[in-house]
Amino acid sequence: MSRLCVHTITTKPLNLDQCLVEFPKRGISGITIWRQALEGRELATVKRQIADSGMEIVSLCRGGFFPSSTAAGRRAAIDDNLLAIEQANAIGAPLIVLVCGAVPGLSLMESRKQIADGIAAVLPAAEQAGVKLAIEPLHPMYADDRSAVNTMRQAHEICDALGSPKMLGIAVDVYHVWWDPELKEQINHAGRTGRLQAFHICDWKTPTTDLLNDRGLMGEGCINIRQISDWVDATGFTGHREVEIFSHKWWSGDQGEFLDQITSSYARLYA
Ligand code: ZN
Repeated sequence: MSRLCVHTITTKPLNLDQCLVEFPKRGISGITIWRQALEGRELATVKRQIADSGMEIVSLCRGGFFPSSTAAGRRAAIDDNLLAIEQANAIGAPLIVLVCGAVPGLSLMESRKQIADGIAAVLPAAEQAGVKLAIEPLHPMYADDRSAVNTMRQAHEICDALGSPKMLGIAVDVYHVWWDPELKEQINHAGRTGRLQAFHICDWKTPTTDLLNDRGLMGEGCINIRQISDWVDATGFTGHREVEIFSHKWWSGDQGEFLDQITSSYARLYA
């Protein structure tokens, strides 16, 4: 359990105070906080509460959504990412996950250019705050309005285009990249370049009934999670394995039981 992290969105019905009690009770050692869980809270207090829980804060989710069809929209996105960097710094999160964004009607190539420009605009603030940024490639089914970065190769290309800055890396989420025939090679490349910064797990259900909120618990679907995880570890990655599940099904039930299922499926996966 020493590498098990759970995202606050995974147990969406629980507020942050409840997560900080229920996660460590089950031996979960890391927490990734979604920004909506911070709403209305004093960030210095949150930082103290996390420390008191005994858990490590792994990352803040999420920044990104850089592309826009208007200059004002792109400026607002940059401002929001600068705010995310301040928030991460205030609660002690070492990393922000970037869901890079896409806009229907804007070409994917233009979106990718705007993503690179947006990241470049916020990198100095990230460097100053000591907060890393991780590009999370999203499954191509989200290329219309969530991310124009859909493969690890594309994430690497953005890192390369920006001169491979030290504070910029990649978050590998099995849900988004499990299908990629280049996956093993791209994970190796992320290891070699020092870009592998986060690893997210869940499962792909057949049939998937909702494009966003029907992710499966590990073992409920068809992803070769353990094999991908072994490829990640083979690069020397020793960070947390972060359980990130958006699921109407699991959110509608008892969250304590869901957390028990998470820890038992995690234990089976890594037995
Ligand atoms: Zn993820």
